[in-house]
Amino acid sequence: MRLYHTLGIEKSLFRGNTWLGNDLDGKNNTLLHTFCCAGFCRWLQWRPMTITSPVGPGPFRAVLAAALVFLLFSCSSETLRPRVDEAYLLGTVVRITVYTDEAEALLEPVFARVADIEARMSTSERDYDRTELLDVNRAPAGTATPVSVDTFEVLKEALRYSELSDGAFEVTIWPLVRLWDIGSGHESVPSEGDIARAVSLVDYRKLSLNDDGSVTLPEEGMGVDVGAIAKGYAADEGARILREGGVKHAILDFGGNILVIGSKPDGTPWRVGVQRPDARRNEYIGIVYTSDRTVVTSGPYERFFVEDGVRYHHILDPATGYPSRNGLEQVTVVGDRSIDADALSTTGYVMGLPAGFTLIEELDGVEAVFVTEDHRVYVTSGLKGPDGRSRFELVDEEFRLMGPPEG
Ligand code: FAD
Ligand code: MG
Repeated sequence: MRLYHTLGIEKSLFRGNTWLGNDLDGKNNTLLHTFCCAGFCRWLQWRPMTITSPVGPGPFRAVLAAALVFLLFSCSSETLRPRVDEAYLLGTVVRITVYTDEAEALLEPVFARVADIEARMSTSERDYDRTELLDVNRAPAGTATPVSVDTFEVLKEALRYSELSDGAFEVTIWPLVRLWDIGSGHESVPSEGDIARAVSLVDYRKLSLNDDGSVTLPEEGMGVDVGAIAKGYAADEGARILREGGVKHAILDFGGNILVIGSKPDGTPWRVGVQRPDARRNEYIGIVYTSDRTVVTSGPYERFFVEDGVRYHHILDPATGYPSRNGLEQVTVVGDRSIDADALSTTGYVMGLPAGFTLIEELDGVEAVFVTEDHRVYVTSGLKGPDGRSRFELVDEEFRLMGPPEG
């Protein structure tokens, strides 16, 4: 196994971790490696590294769980051997498993493409002096800022989901993201006044995506953020490159965004384990059986801090300016495009039950699993039947499968 890392590694603290993930038949053990990065690093150039020192759970458990939101179950094949590479990108571990003899030549351009997307669309001022979106956010009010086709496309989709959800998904959430700065390591709850000021600067209806491919924000302090959607776009782009290279079977794991290409090499669907929301390592509440689709989860355990016993996480309610709190513990969305599933998992999480559930039920080609803090599980109709393209199976007896949510 190889791990790609950067020349900027001295800026980061890496922890290797190794554990065994059983496939569901209990026949094969697939060695899963992941690592986490405390602090933030910029990925400039890759070279191979082998993980040699496993670290136990303890304080790293939450971070490790965040790094591997899904436990993937794959099968080994007599003929095609899996090749796994991973890198720390987009603030998470990007881990790609391909079943092909030409993995080396195919994976390099995938990681390069993801790094390029990060360098264009990151809004992290700790990690980047400049990106296209930082340029947009820093431009004087009313100025048109040109962006690349990639960035414009992601902003267009983010605006579409903002409109669709009436602002529960908010492409102009940046003033709040910047204020809370969750994940920085020195977070504290902002003052009510600061939160109110930031809320007043958040309004997707004021964002202009101009015909010439530029972007305009009309007020000083406004800004865009694509943290809730661009990981999906990057996964779609990685899959496109692999498919164009002839890959028939692969798993792209972007830390909470899973995309599978084809079926398992033996022709059966992939089994994607949906992790327990309380992030107990190597435990999952259910399994999504699927082929050629994406499975994306949003939950409060990805990035958070605790102050006075209260957990403050990174998915913000644009209406209140505070982390979204509505009784949900996580939302998993299954769909064809990862950009849609990424946007909708965040949207569903903020909208809550029943509104988020109803929205996803009404949309074509997407399905969802909503999990509440009190262990109720709501599954949209397309994931229930044996005839569907994907199916969800609840396996944890501490959770209860419910009918459609009331309201
Ligand atoms: P999701 O639910 O998919 O998204 C949550 C994120 O979306 C929040 O972190 C916030 O950014 C934003 N958000 C919060 N509330 C809302 C809302 N109501 N509507 C819309 N958006 C909302 N991390 C780093 O540490 N350094 C980097 O340089 C860096 N660059 C990145 C570049 C890109 C292109 C992307 C996609 C991510 C990057 N990240 C980086 C990670 C990023 O900061 C988020 O932590 C990550 O995208 C969250 O994804 P998620 O799946 O956990 O949660
Ligand atoms: Mg998302």
